[in-house]
Amino acid sequence: MNDRAPQPVDRQLPTEESRDLLALVREIAQREIRPPAAEQEEAGHFPRDVFSLLSESGLLGLPYDGEFGGGDQPYEVYLQVLEELAAARLTVGLGVSVHSLACHGLAGYGTKEQKAAHLPAMLGGGLLGAYCLSEPSSGSDAASLGTKAVRDGDDWVITGTKAWITHGGIADFYTVLARTGGEGPKGITAFLVPGDAEGLSAAAPEKKMGMKGSPTAQLHFDGVRVPDARRIGEEGQGFTIALAALDAGRLGIAACAIGVAQAALDESLAYALGRKQFNRPIADFQGLRFMLADMATKIEAGRSLYLAAARLRDAGKPFSRQAAMAKLFCTDAAMAVTTDAVQILGGYGYTADFPAERLMREAKVLQIVEGTNQIQRVVIARHLAGPESR
Ligand SMILES: Cc1cc2nc3c(=O)[nH]c(=O)nc-3n(C[C@H](O)[C@H](O)[C@H](O)COP(=O)(O)OP(=O)(O)OC[C@H]3O[C@@H](n4cnc5c(N)ncnc54)[C@H](O)[C@@H]3O)c2cc1C
Repeated sequence: MNDRAPQPVDRQLPTEESRDLLALVREIAQREIRPPAAEQEEAGHFPRDVFSLLSESGLLGLPYDGEFGGGDQPYEVYLQVLEELAAARLTVGLGVSVHSLACHGLAGYGTKEQKAAHLPAMLGGGLLGAYCLSEPSSGSDAASLGTKAVRDGDDWVITGTKAWITHGGIADFYTVLARTGGEGPKGITAFLVPGDAEGLSAAAPEKKMGMKGSPTAQLHFDGVRVPDARRIGEEGQGFTIALAALDAGRLGIAACAIGVAQAALDESLAYALGRKQFNRPIADFQGLRFMLADMATKIEAGRSLYLAAARLRDAGKPFSRQAAMAKLFCTDAAMAVTTDAVQILGGYGYTADFPAERLMREAKVLQIVEGTNQIQRVVIARHLAGPESR
């Protein structure tokens, strides 16, 4: 085998601080996240210790306001951190992205009192979050959700079932979208629900084809009572809050996808340089060189696309269409690149002795979560054709 170490990605970062941050993330990834990844994924082990370390290191609240415990980093920096984490282990990169998604509503729409009360613990106090939009009968058509929140004095009582919740059952807090009014998007309100609320329970985690270390579970709300002080935003504003979080979250998924693809390319290149057939490294054969060139090009294109969208967001400009494009392109690229990685490793690529097959299984979920890639096309086309088009 050729043991040429993968070259770190040459990144354009805006400040000295962000360069130091990336160096820290690479060190943590190299030391704590990558080594046990394969074994822990196989065993379905969630690395809670890693999330505690990331929280202590200030890496769980990077894109949020420093006044409330966040890292004050631009999105272009936060996303490159996510990419590095996902390259080491998707369960960690995606987990950080989901945690960030769960913080988005309160950080963007909470009152000053709510933010002061909750955000410091969420952004850097060791808590882990989850985001509860999907339900068993309401996936792509998220505005049809049926979980109800009914007003009772100063409280709300939440009843219903959420599905597919990343960190379901282990999160310390849940951002929950529930119906407080009539049908459709305008009847939905957002709430911040503590993980230990009475009446809240989780089903056994789903048995998934990949990302087995990341628990995904149904959550049952059986008359869960939360005070009105835990309502995020106005009554009926929940779907707007949910979609705003998803615009930002989709960029997180795009960055994670490029991390997974980069890990697959690094693996493929090292293998192709070391494996000999016909008395030559297989990397000498043009058939494989062209595959490697295409893989690297897809990765660079995807990285450029998510960073361009992030820079729009950092500049305070609309970025929803570009976020959907980045999610679509980067996750399709990750699927193609990881599939090619298995091919480059030949028979060995099809075994669990090498990470290529795990990366391929992991890439698949990224085409599904936070709006399937069909839904991203719906979003992009709606932007092109105008808001009144369907
Ligand atoms: C591992 C994992 C983790 C997840 N984590 C979370 C989480 O933390 N929080 C959360 O709220 N949700 C989460 N989800 C749910 C995820 O967002 C949904 O699975 C996704 O939105 C699709 O919904 P669905 O599975 O109900 O599929 P459906 O909506 O039933 O779609 C089935 C198929 O129909 C297609 N389709 C549907 N409508 C259209 C249309 N209009 N045009 C074209 N094609 C269409 C879809 O693209 C898909 O191919 C997670 C899912 C998984 C697998």
